[in-house]
Amino acid sequence: MIQAKAYAAQDSQTDLAPWDFERREVGPHDVQIEILFCGVCHSDLHQIKNDWFPGVFPMVPGHEIVGRIIKVGDHVKNFKIGELAGVGCMVDSCQVCENCKEGLEQYCFEGNTQTYNNLDRSGVPTYGGYSNTIVVREEFVLHVSDKLSLAATAPLLCAGITTYSPLRHWKVGKGHKLAVLGLGGLGHMGVKFGVAFGAEVTVLSTSASKEAAAKELGAHKFVVTSDPEQVKAVKSSFDFILDTVSAPHDMNMYLSLLKTNGVHICVGVPPEPMSIAAFSLLGGRRSVAGSGIGGVRETQEMLDFCVQHNIVSDIEVIDIKDITKSYERMLKGDVRYRFVIDMATL
Ligand code: NAP
Ligand code: ZN
Repeated sequence: MIQAKAYAAQDSQTDLAPWDFERREVGPHDVQIEILFCGVCHSDLHQIKNDWFPGVFPMVPGHEIVGRIIKVGDHVKNFKIGELAGVGCMVDSCQVCENCKEGLEQYCFEGNTQTYNNLDRSGVPTYGGYSNTIVVREEFVLHVSDKLSLAATAPLLCAGITTYSPLRHWKVGKGHKLAVLGLGGLGHMGVKFGVAFGAEVTVLSTSASKEAAAKELGAHKFVVTSDPEQVKAVKSSFDFILDTVSAPHDMNMYLSLLKTNGVHICVGVPPEPMSIAAFSLLGGRRSVAGSGIGGVRETQEMLDFCVQHNIVSDIEVIDIKDITKSYERMLKGDVRYRFVIDMATL
């Protein structure tokens, strides 16, 4: 077994703290990565707090992982020791169902194996990226370029692909009016991709203080959703809303901002179900849809797109000792726009 160090939550009530544990040996199809940076996703906080379902504890969160390969198994074909690599939200799937074969491993019929807070296919708990090292089968490892900031690349592995994938699926681009709802880790990547794909992008935010920063990200318009006048001015105006909000919110109000045939795409995962009036949909033939991360192939495509277009996340690098403080700030919407842990501080 490989001795590993991490920060872990021992249960849903306790703050993260240092924890030593073991990872599996590098198998013939595995890659071992020395983790250099790991992004802090709101999903990490949802999961250590049991917001969605009872978690697997001790829990080592983190699914925005970048680092350097330090060992490869005998049958590994696509990765070499010394290369940069990334790991996102999944580390395995059945690989044989229709969805896996199509490169939609996130929708594996048997369920994908999540990078943490899950049991792997042999029943062993998975531990995430707030750690010094990880062992992952090569099919779930991504190539990472040395042309971009490595720390700022980490959030692409979740926040990046989770916003890239739906915008690609719905072919959002030139001629479309896209609203990005919530300007946090996911939202700011949604703005960057929406702009890169040619859409007119409006940020719908609860935080008036984010306006200037949103425009710097490339957003064309900014609406403070607590101001009824500003909201009224954008009624029935968007083709798509990319909803990245992590807490319950008034879906019916946001649906009224869609044009006829508009699509409200949920990527944020509030702990509570939200209610939608049928009238909000039928008056304008609107739909509500959802999208989960992205497949491995599409994640690589997104990383390559980011290299071509010089896109990374806007980050604040933190010491792992400050993780609890960072969660508190994230809950208040006080992060521009992603915390990334420098694993050298572990
Ligand atoms: P985040 O950085 O905390 O951003 C969420 C943003 O939502 C906040 O910055 C805030 O933006 C807005 N917001 C928060 N509370 C709100 C409220 N009560 N009403 C309206 N807006 C509110 O979180 P994140 O890391 O981007 O993650 C966002 C959500 O996506 C989380 O639920 C996460 O679990 C989920 N997620 C889903 C997937 C997927 O596969 N679908 C993948 C990753 C994450 P403003 O200040 O601009 O209002
Ligand atoms: Zn995430």
